[in-house]
Amino acid sequence: MVEKGAVVKAGQMVGEPSGFVSAPVHSPVSGTVKAVADRPHCLSGDQPAVVIEPAETDEWELMEPITDLDRTPVEKLVERIRDAGLVGMGGAAFPTHVKVVPPKGHAFDTVILNGAECEPFLTCDHQLMLAKGEEIVKGLKILLKITGAQRGFIGIEANKPDAIKHLEELTRHAAQINVAVCRVKYPQGAEKQLIKAVTGREVPVGGLPFQVKVLVQNVGTAYAVWDAVANGRPLVERAVTVTGPIVKEPKNLWVKVGTPVGELLERCGGLTDDAARFILGGPMMGLAQHRFDVPVTKGTSGVLFLPPPRPEDFIAGPCIRCARCVDTCPMKLVPCEAATFSEAGKLDKAEANGAGDCIECGSCAYVCPARRHLVQSIKVSKPAILKRRAERARGA
Ligand code: SF4
Ligand code: SF4
Repeated sequence: MVEKGAVVKAGQMVGEPSGFVSAPVHSPVSGTVKAVADRPHCLSGDQPAVVIEPAETDEWELMEPITDLDRTPVEKLVERIRDAGLVGMGGAAFPTHVKVVPPKGHAFDTVILNGAECEPFLTCDHQLMLAKGEEIVKGLKILLKITGAQRGFIGIEANKPDAIKHLEELTRHAAQINVAVCRVKYPQGAEKQLIKAVTGREVPVGGLPFQVKVLVQNVGTAYAVWDAVANGRPLVERAVTVTGPIVKEPKNLWVKVGTPVGELLERCGGLTDDAARFILGGPMMGLAQHRFDVPVTKGTSGVLFLPPPRPEDFIAGPCIRCARCVDTCPMKLVPCEAATFSEAGKLDKAEANGAGDCIECGSCAYVCPARRHLVQSIKVSKPAILKRRAERARGA
């Protein structure tokens, strides 16, 4: 939406959505557009980007705050969420305005806020619940209004007693809302696992949460919902955990989307070891990166810096048929077979062993004594399996 030389305000929309499952992008700063060109992206090489040189101070362009929630039609709230560019902030970055409206013939009766934050090292959701608990609860109330759901939960793992206590106090008089204390067990924060833990309902294999009448949103997204509605602010900032054993001063930072990761590291005092690896997200599901100029995106929950790997960590041995991967898989899949067939390009057999339902939690690879690259192998066939599934559903 902007060209080189344009002067933009913080909060101004600079990129339009390109389809239904898409969200607009807003400038996080006031400044001057220096280029509209491809730049590094954490997920898929170079991507089109708007490069903005920040001004000394930010002048904001905000939407009109919505103050009378009771009298605001649901459609207007969904429109606001869309216009604010909200996406799931737990990592998946799926557009929120799409997710809050179930397909025709379906309805939500429950909204769960995901505050489980089960991946090791990540603490930004925990910190956000402590610092912005009130706003998160208000965001949940807005989501309850939008969905018409009768009850709301905030799912938190039992290892965050201060956040549990704080949110229980904040929701004491909200009859519809409860804090659900969950077992500390990876991957408790995965959507389907959290639904099971909180409601006892099981999302069918290959299915989605709306099929059991549940909407799950990250606590950060709930905060962003409140901010978009109450303050008219689009999603241009978020909490990010910068951490790892070789970071001098690990901390949670409030970061503008688009900030190069290298700048976050500077704010944390740099590294104690030069030859490191770094990952966007947590150690189990995050994505390894190779350059410091990749930007923080709306879905970046953490930046993890690790010491150099031991060469033996990468040497995969043959499968010894121990079935540890089967025992540990939270989706009840057969990872050893799914990976083998996936590597061999045998889609039918890979699918029959669960490759299409893998949530990429990494638990199987973590326990595998042969150090097989199970997740990477499964990921090879998963997109093709999901595409075939979608075609079958459309009757193609
Ligand atoms: S990554 Fe492994 S353990 Fe996790 S869901 Fe996929 S197959 Fe199962
Ligand atoms: S855990 Fe590893 S070695 Fe054991 S069955 Fe699974 S893939 Fe094979």
